[in-house]
Amino acid sequence: MHENNPDRRLAREKRTLECMIVIYCRATHGAADDICADCRELLEYALDRLDNCGQGPDKPTCAQCVVHCFNPAMRQRVRAVMRYAGPRMFLHHPGLALGHVFDKFRRPRRG
Ligand code: SF4
Ligand SMILES: [Zn+2]
Repeated sequence: MHENNPDRRLAREKRTLECMIVIYCRATHGAADDICADCRELLEYALDRLDNCGQGPDKPTCAQCVVHCFNPAMRQRVRAVMRYAGPRMFLHHPGLALGHVFDKFRRPRRG
């Protein structure tokens, strides 16, 4: 499940993030068909950060990043999503969850 291709890893990180936000929004904001406007804003912000990530091909997952380019409010929001949805990913999207765990072993680049 470990993915070395940076483009595929990035695509998987985006999919993982979106799945986590959907799980979180359904459970905490009662979203049915789509995520709510707040979660949509968070997702678009995070995807934009990922598209403009300066960490290069060896980037860690955002959860492991020592730079963390999210502004404090968005960082807090995405943390709440990860705290809630992280453990539940094993039920909803085991393949993505496994990849996410493997990615945690990648060392963040410093400096
Ligand atoms: S948090 Fe770190 S890894 Fe994630 S997009 Fe920002 S700089 Fe890149
Ligand atoms: Zn929501």
